[in-house]
Amino acid sequence: QAKQEGRGGFRYFSQGMTQAARERIRLEARLHRAIEQNELRVYYQPVVDIAGGGIVGAEALVRWQHPEEGLIPPARFIPVAESTGLIDAIGEWVLRETCRQGRQWMDAGLPALTLAVNMSPRQFRHRDIGATVAEVTAQTGFPATRLELELTESALMEPDAAELLQRLRATGVRLAIDDFGTGYSSLAYLQRFPLDVLKIDKGFVDAIPHGADRGAIATSIVGMGHSLGFKVLAEGVEKPEQLAFLHSLGCDMYQGYLKSPPLPPAEFERLLSPDR
Ligand code: C2E
Ligand code: MG
Ligand code: MG
Ligand code: MG
Repeated sequence: QAKQEGRGGFRYFSQGMTQAARERIRLEARLHRAIEQNELRVYYQPVVDIAGGGIVGAEALVRWQHPEEGLIPPARFIPVAESTGLIDAIGEWVLRETCRQGRQWMDAGLPALTLAVNMSPRQFRHRDIGATVAEVTAQTGFPATRLELELTESALMEPDAAELLQRLRATGVRLAIDDFGTGYSSLAYLQRFPLDVLKIDKGFVDAIPHGADRGAIATSIVGMGHSLGFKVLAEGVEKPEQLAFLHSLGCDMYQGYLKSPPLPPAEFERLLSPDR
């Protein structure tokens, strides 16, 4: 830390800076460039209707297509983007690109899809987020009613979360809680918000059917979620036994490698309409 002001201060700061802090600053600068150079990509993971078996939507997941390092997963840059504020630009770009793609798929005659976009707590805190969403859907021509925004439980802990959610909902979008069960909010707490979908975190899906809890947590999320009027989606389904168990619970939708990993748009299109 730079305790001294003046001449020696800066030097003291740079020498004292940890390796991790230097790497963070470097990553931030590279990420800035990545946005400008159009190196971000959106991949789409299909969302499957469990009862009907069809693909009813997709989750948009950002990647960084680095010219030398290849495809960089979001876990390596979203945390830095969140803490530096770059997530605002990245998040808006992902939203716009997803809506643009969604409109293009509509125009190409692909089956109607609901597209889900992740929203960081920082984006959610912006007072004008509702206006941004309304503007992007209007400009791209993608119906807000086909857009779903995924929020984390921590976003709901904001003091004025209810008001922000109402404002978003007023644009026509659907709202989902991502990674449900990993935070500290109870289902009773969620009830007071205008939410549509609960996404059961992969951790509880992994426990189906032979894990420590034998799927007890997934079972109770589906049951209580339904009784409170939410749709329930299971994340990270990898095995047929997990899908069979979720089906028996009446869980509405799933995502997971069992169906497909996130795909670049052209591959997602082929999965949707293999005969084209
Ligand atoms: P998430 O929103 O919970 O997304 C689900 C993650 O689980 C994705 O990882 C997906 O590839 C992975 N996944 C899906 N099915 C399976 C499966 O069957 N097995 C396994 N092992 N993994 C599965 P991904 O794409 O690496 O994204 C990680 C996280 O990064 C996301 O978690 C989300 O929190 C964040 N993220 C991704 N894109 C964005 C974005 O545009 N904005 C924001 N704010 N966050 C994003
Ligand atoms: Mg998500
Ligand atoms: Mg998730
Ligand atoms: Mg997750």
